[in-house]
Amino acid sequence: RAKQNGRNCFEFYTTNLNFIAHQWLDMENGIRHALKENQLFLEYQPQVENTNQNLIGIEALLRWQHPERGLISPLEFIKIAEQSSLINQIGDWVLEAVCLQIRTWLDQAYQVPRVSINISARHLRSDSLIQALKTVPAKYQIPTNMLCIEITEHALLDDIDIVKKNMRFIKEAGFNISLDDFGMGHSSLMYLKRWSVDEVKIDRTFIDGLQNSEEDRVIVKAIVALADALSLDIVAEGIENQFQADIVKASGCKVVQGFFYSIPLPAAEIVRWFKSK
Ligand code: C2E
Ligand code: MG
Ligand code: MG
Ligand code: MG
Repeated sequence: RAKQNGRNCFEFYTTNLNFIAHQWLDMENGIRHALKENQLFLEYQPQVENTNQNLIGIEALLRWQHPERGLISPLEFIKIAEQSSLINQIGDWVLEAVCLQIRTWLDQAYQVPRVSINISARHLRSDSLIQALKTVPAKYQIPTNMLCIEITEHALLDDIDIVKKNMRFIKEAGFNISLDDFGMGHSSLMYLKRWSVDEVKIDRTFIDGLQNSEEDRVIVKAIVALADALSLDIVAEGIENQFQADIVKASGCKVVQGFFYSIPLPAAEIVRWFKSK
């Protein structure tokens, strides 16, 4: 009987794995299709000065409008895309779409702030990113200092030559570099200095904790103080209420991003935040 159970269990398990593998493959094909059929689009979330809500920058966030499944979050498909070079195609698509969008806004005489784009660790190790950064902004006549490349710290953990070389290229070409989700991995701010990062984004989990955790309050304060001392810019992301806004402000962090100020907006709506010339 035990044997019988064991086998059922095994069958259940493999069926389940097959199902997951199948879903995964489905998703990969779906993303390929999405790229071809123009199902991807971007939303933009304001980053503002916390004293006066002046617009400092906007972050481009990827969305997938699936014909049957509806809107799919990047949390659902980026991880799958990162398992193959599909993520490079996505990153290249985002860069092209952002540059085209900035060009359109500039031609309409909007004062466009700095635009941040998220680049995955795998893409950062590729030549395809460097090729795209060399050609795409130039094609749309976008100055490189209008763009900020957001990477997460695990992208820097592979301390390999290609990452060093690519980071150096990005820096020397005049792009801004931001370290996203800071505090979730292992790197210290000192180490960031070596990578010539310009900006650090405090991970949302610390902001979440501000209300209930004295520890999180101390951590945020310490990150801001150290970043200041090292002349790194700092952004607090995921601010959802006045309470968090007040604490972050008291910690000395000047630039903030979160639903409290604005949710990510479609291109047609973010222009409300811009000034016209
Ligand atoms: P991220 O780069 O850390 O982006 C911030 C995420 O926090 C966004 O989620 C944004 O909508 C969300 N957010 C902003 N303010 C608040 C808030 O006050 N409360 C809460 N609960 N959430 C807030 P989103 O758009 O779902 O993106 C999730 C992640 O997917 C991003 O995290 C980024 O890691 C990745 N991602 C998004 N777009 C791209 C892309 O174009 N390329 C790559 N490689 N990754 C992307
Ligand atoms: Mg980001
Ligand atoms: Mg983040
Ligand atoms: Mg995040």
